[in-house]
Amino acid sequence: MSPTPNIDYENLSGLNAPFKEAYEAEFSRLLEKGWFVLGEQVTSFEEEFAAYIGAPTFLGVASGLDALEMPLKIMDFPVGSEIIVPSNTYIATINAILNTGHKPVFVEPDMDTYLIDPKKIEEKITANTKAIMVVHLYGKPCEMDPIMALCAKYNLELIEDCAQSHGAKYKGQATGTFGFGAFSFYPTKNLGALGDAGGISLSNVDHYDKLKAWRNYGSFIKYKNEYVGDNSRLDEIQAGFLRIKLKALDQITAHKRGLANLYHELLDGDKVILPHRANHLEEVHHIFPIHGKAGSKRKRTE
Ligand SMILES: *Cc1c(COP(=O)(O)O)cnc(C)c1O
Repeated sequence: MSPTPNIDYENLSGLNAPFKEAYEAEFSRLLEKGWFVLGEQVTSFEEEFAAYIGAPTFLGVASGLDALEMPLKIMDFPVGSEIIVPSNTYIATINAILNTGHKPVFVEPDMDTYLIDPKKIEEKITANTKAIMVVHLYGKPCEMDPIMALCAKYNLELIEDCAQSHGAKYKGQATGTFGFGAFSFYPTKNLGALGDAGGISLSNVDHYDKLKAWRNYGSFIKYKNEYVGDNSRLDEIQAGFLRIKLKALDQITAHKRGLANLYHELLDGDKVILPHRANHLEEVHHIFPIHGKAGSKRKRTE
């Protein structure tokens, strides 16, 4: 019998190897140019990523956590406002709510999709609810029609945690274009930099100027500071690397979809619960979660 092969969960040096020459050329170019933060690489990446997902506009920031926090900060919600959020997510989603002085109100997931259950949201909405923060976990888009309807009915802001869903689409529309889209480009994400990086896509361009100032100490004009703001700027070198990798993202996603199809074909659905699939969802498979059955008789619905 052959030994069990060791498969790395994330092999980042292997993942980045195809881009080595392009990255090195980009680094040399930048070193000669001598402009390192918020420059033309950032602007170009912002335009290209906005076009990639079909958002009116996009702003580079320092991390996914910052991208989740900044929309909450610029909206000036009263301290202690309630923000609806799925109970299963990465800790950053919750930290963004706590760090900005608000209260996470948890909604359980739909056990077929592992995403926030839209049917369980309305019962959690109160007079203090200001926003719904959805998470397109594992690269699967949330069920947006009922969620958008609730936002309209109760006049709530929508923040989408897109840290795992670069390019995923719900009924043909990319995640991050329904509300504020908070993206992470942490090295392990589907589109990963060589360090920390993030960005915010905006469906409502009214907020663009304030957010743009906010990421740079609340300043539109140097030494004139309109808001308290943050230092959450994107580095030129990361934007340069991300522009290189963005050109290959469709190929990377196609590869992941091919692997997902293989898993669906070859894994035994009697032994494990394979992830749900649906025709109106174009997933990007950040993770392919397999649920152990352990005697459970629960059935999966398509
Ligand atoms: C990675 C991740 C974040 C945080 O992104 P950082 O860039 O690490 O701050 C937020 N939400 C989810 C779902 C993530 O996977």
